[in-house]
Amino acid sequence: MPKRKNKKPGAGPVVALDSSRWSQASRRSVACEIADDHYRDRPSTCRNCGDGFVFTAQQQREAYEVRKAYIWQQRVLCAPCWRQRLHLLGELKRIRSRWARERASVKRDPQALRHWRDVLAGLPRYGLREDRAQRAMVDRLLAAAERREV
Ligand SMILES: [Zn+2]
Repeated sequence: MPKRKNKKPGAGPVVALDSSRWSQASRRSVACEIADDHYRDRPSTCRNCGDGFVFTAQQQREAYEVRKAYIWQQRVLCAPCWRQRLHLLGELKRIRSRWARERASVKRDPQALRHWRDVLAGLPRYGLREDRAQRAMVDRLLAAAERREV
């Protein structure tokens, strides 16, 4: 087993790594050739709020061996920001499904449209792509609904 010179004694738990359980893409990547036989806790900084957090050895095993995430995918958000990201995605799904079912009623509902706009505006902070076309549509609908409101 290759020893890392910079490994401090007691620097967090290590978890056994089994690259045969990685996704096919991960196994084909160079990461597979240079892989150690353990995961180690990785300290990191949240891309959204700047707080420090640890991508733990156990979370890495979960991500790469159970959920089969691509091996070069790193966690970039702390736990609270990750939960907020999931919350926003859930809200977006809920709004879009309401939109698909009852478009006319959403168009007349400024509160729902404002919420939709806020959810869309929040996505980029959590590493999600902004859907500009959808934002433009929601802005137009909201402007029309607010004109009706007064
Ligand atoms: Zn954060």
